[in-house]
Amino acid sequence: MKARAYAATSAGARIAPLEVERREVGPHDVRIDIDACGVCHSDIHQAEGDWGPDIFPMVPGHEIIGIVTETGDAVTKYAVGDRVGVGCYVGSCGTCDACANGDENYCPTWSTTYNGYEQDGVTPTYGGYSDHIVVNEDYVLRIPEGMDTQAAAPLLCAGITVYPPLKSYAGPGKEVGVIGLGGLGHVGVRIAKAMGSRVTVFSHSPGKEADALRLGADAFVATHDPAALKPLRMSFDMILSTVSASIDIDAYLNLLKTRGVLAIVGLPVEPLSFEAGNLVGEARTIVGAKLAGVGTTQEMLDFCAEHGVVADVEVINIADINEAWQRIKDSDVRYRFVIDIAGSLRDQ
Ligand code: NAP
Ligand code: ZN
Repeated sequence: MKARAYAATSAGARIAPLEVERREVGPHDVRIDIDACGVCHSDIHQAEGDWGPDIFPMVPGHEIIGIVTETGDAVTKYAVGDRVGVGCYVGSCGTCDACANGDENYCPTWSTTYNGYEQDGVTPTYGGYSDHIVVNEDYVLRIPEGMDTQAAAPLLCAGITVYPPLKSYAGPGKEVGVIGLGGLGHVGVRIAKAMGSRVTVFSHSPGKEADALRLGADAFVATHDPAALKPLRMSFDMILSTVSASIDIDAYLNLLKTRGVLAIVGLPVEPLSFEAGNLVGEARTIVGAKLAGVGTTQEMLDFCAEHGVVADVEVINIADINEAWQRIKDSDVRYRFVIDIAGSLRDQ
């Protein structure tokens, strides 16, 4: 089945229209006509070959919301007309320890939504910069009623990336820092506040202070002056780094209390380094996290619906995607681009 899409045909190429082949709806599949797709910095990292090896042509997009328009014979969870979401993966083996634990996101042979292969190991997957997608119902999320489609789409990656570390280490009475006020960071501020934490934003963009406070942050630290961090030594229970570039890990470790946690979810291209003494001396921990299983992703969506958490979005026409990517690279997104797929691709 043909799908209209926008793709990169090689590493670093401009994103341009391309028709791709999607599978027919199988017994366990749903077809989703896509309404909105968020734009994640990971789309750029992958299309530009930052992490490699990559699969081209690449149709990015893993913050997808749309409507079910067809269901396979064996589908039980969804019906035609349901509003659903697809995040960063569309399959996993179902038998490994990770899958058995509900950690499909850590299945060694998971199928990423794009730049990966279906479970057959040979059919490339194509993401949400596209008019429709066909997905096994087990990897589809239910979008809670009342959530705006475009504002909710970024929760499918940005939201589920920050939710698990915040669930583990934030909470009432906790001092939480969020480094980087971009797509992940601004949702992180809202979720950390909804969990009852006191939140400080660390940003290298001084002009984002008013937005940080509007988003609910209690304090804002402009990091272009490293001296600004010094008075905050030993102040934080947890700091979440959402930065896409290298940061001074030692500077942030020293802001953690004894047994404090630095949770890294941002994925800079260059390796990070730190002094062992800054970890050992105060029994601090550095953890990483990548998304969550399907069950926790649904839990996150329901939590966000209950607490009124969505993203601040700039809705764009898909023809403007290359300019949007440049603005993300310039840290100039306020705070997530979402492509109006229904209005600018699907119904054209
Ligand atoms: P984004 O919207 O571009 O936000 C990143 C923010 O980092 C920027 O807004 C900026 O915030 C800060 N930043 C950028 N360059 C910086 C620099 N040179 N020095 C200091 N701060 C800088 O990106 P995103 O979509 O939120 O993604 C963030 C990172 O997380 C990416 O690397 C992405 O690939 C990764 N990611 C990881 C997962 C996972 O599962 N772990 C999932 C999704 C994305 P300020 O302007 O406030 O400083
Ligand atoms: Zn993402």
